[in-house]
Amino acid sequence: MSDAFDIQIIGGGLAGSEAAWQLAEAGLRVRLSEMRGGGDTTPAHESDRLAEMVCSNSFRSDDAEHNAVGLLHQEMRTLGSLIMRAADASRVPAGSALAVDREGFAAEVTRAVESHPNIAVVRERVDALPDHPTIISTGPLTGSKLAEAIAAETGQGALAFFDAIAPIVHRDSIDMGVAWMAARWDRGSSEGGGKDYINCPMDKDQYHAFVAALNEGEKTEFKDWERDTPYFEGCMPIEVMAERGPETLRYGPMKGVGLDNPRTGRWPYAVVQLRQDNALGTLWNMVGFQTKLKHGEQVRIFRTIPGLENAEFARLGGIHRNSFINSPRLLDGELRLKSKPNIRFAGQITGCEGYVESAAVGILAARFAAAELRGDRLPPPPVETAMGALLGHITGGADAETFQPMNVNFGLMPPLPGRLKKGDRKKAYTDRAREAFGGWLERERAPELA
Ligand SMILES: Cc1cc2nc3c(=O)[nH]c(=O)nc-3n(C[C@H](O)[C@H](O)[C@H](O)COP(=O)(O)OP(=O)(O)OC[C@H]3O[C@@H](n4cnc5c(N)ncnc54)[C@H](O)[C@@H]3O)c2cc1C
Repeated sequence: MSDAFDIQIIGGGLAGSEAAWQLAEAGLRVRLSEMRGGGDTTPAHESDRLAEMVCSNSFRSDDAEHNAVGLLHQEMRTLGSLIMRAADASRVPAGSALAVDREGFAAEVTRAVESHPNIAVVRERVDALPDHPTIISTGPLTGSKLAEAIAAETGQGALAFFDAIAPIVHRDSIDMGVAWMAARWDRGSSEGGGKDYINCPMDKDQYHAFVAALNEGEKTEFKDWERDTPYFEGCMPIEVMAERGPETLRYGPMKGVGLDNPRTGRWPYAVVQLRQDNALGTLWNMVGFQTKLKHGEQVRIFRTIPGLENAEFARLGGIHRNSFINSPRLLDGELRLKSKPNIRFAGQITGCEGYVESAAVGILAARFAAAELRGDRLPPPPVETAMGALLGHITGGADAETFQPMNVNFGLMPPLPGRLKKGDRKKAYTDRAREAFGGWLERERAPELA
C-alpha cells in the first residue's frame, strides 16, 4: 500500500484491529497506528501483537439464544468480524463460554491485519487529534499525551477509574487429589457445559479463615488519582467483596451451590474455580479472583486454598487504570465527536466494557465511517439488537451524569410486552433481536434502496 490513506485508526487493540479489517474489506485504505512495537507500551500489555487480551482469555457466553453477549457474538460473525473469526479458530474448552488461546488469537489477528493489502500498520504513538478522518480506539490505557489532547478538545476531561486482574496458576501445580473437574455450576451437558472447570473446595472454617486473611492482607497503595474513583462492579477485587461482609464471596465467585464434591457427595461450603487459559491446558485462571493484594500476600493467602497449597503462579493479580470519555454527552449517534466530527471513537474508551463489546463498537465505527466516506449514511442498528442496544447506551441511552462502562445485557434493550417466564423471556429477546438485525442488514447491504 502507498503512503496515501482514506482513514487513520489510532490503537491496534480489539476495537482498532476490527475496525481496520472492516474498513479494508470495504475497499478503503487504512493507516493503523499502534504505539506498541514503536518504543512505547502500556502497563498491561506484554507483547507487540495486535488485539492482545490483557487479562481473562474469555469472550464469555457463546449462547446466542439466551445470553446477550452470545447474541452479540452472532451479530458480529454475521458482519464478518475478524475478532470472532480468530476467536473461533483459537478456541479452548470452556463449556458454553467462548475462551481462547490468547497467543494464538492475537497472532492470527496480527497476521490477518498486517497482510491485508488495504492496511498499513505503522508502529507509532499519536499524541494529537488529526484533522483527517480518524477512529480513536486507544482503549482504557490511552497514551497520556493523547488523553490530554482529548480532554483539551472535549473540555470534559477523560474520566478514570480502575479494574483489577485475576491470577493464573500452572496446571501441574494444582493438587487434583483435592480439586475436581466439573461444569461451571454443575449444569451439565444440557447447557453445553462439559467438565471444564477445576474446583477447589473449602469447608466452613477454611472459608472464614480465608476471608479473614483477605481482610488483613496487605493491599497495594492507591495512587492519588485513584483514591476517589469507583470500581466497575463486574470486576471488583475479592478483598473489596470480602470487606463488604463475611458471606459476600460465598454468594459471588466462591458459590459452591450445586457443585457435588465427588469425594464427599456434598456441596462444598465454598469453592474456588479455575478456567483453562491456554490451548495447551497448562495455565488456569482463578475465576473472579481479581485482586490488588500485594504479590507476596497473594501467594501466601492463595496457597491456603485446598488444592492450591503448592500452586505456582504464572501471573499474579493487579490493578489498572481505565480511561473512558463521557460518550452520551460528547458523541453523536454515529460515534463522531460532536465538536470535531472527523474524529470517531471506538472500543473501551467509549465506555463499553469488555473485549467483545469493544470489538463490536469497532465494527460500528468502521461501518459508519465507510458509509460516510462513500457519501452515504448508515442508519444505526435497531435498539432491539445487541449492537444497537450497546450503541444506544453509549450514545444517548445512558445518563451522562452517572455514565459508567457497561457490558451488553438485555436491560439495554426495550422491555418485551407482556409477562413471560425467565427462560422464555431471554429467548424472546434474542428472537426479536434476530428479526430486527435481519431487517437492518438488508438496508446495510443495499444502501441504494434507502
Ligand atoms: C489490566 C486490564 C484487565 C482487563 N481485563 C479484562 C477482561 O478480563 N475481560 C475483558 O473483556 N476486558 C478486560 N479489560 C478491558 C479490555 O481492555 C478491553 O476489553 C479491551 O482490550 C478494549 O479494547 P480496545 O481496543 O478498546 O483497547 P485495547 O485492547 O487496550 O487497545 C488499545 C490499543 O491502543 C494502543 N494505544 C494507546 N494509546 C495510543 C497512542 N497514543 N497512540 C497509538 N497507540 C496507542 C495500545 O497500545 C493498545 O494496543 C481489561 C483491561 C485492562 C487494562
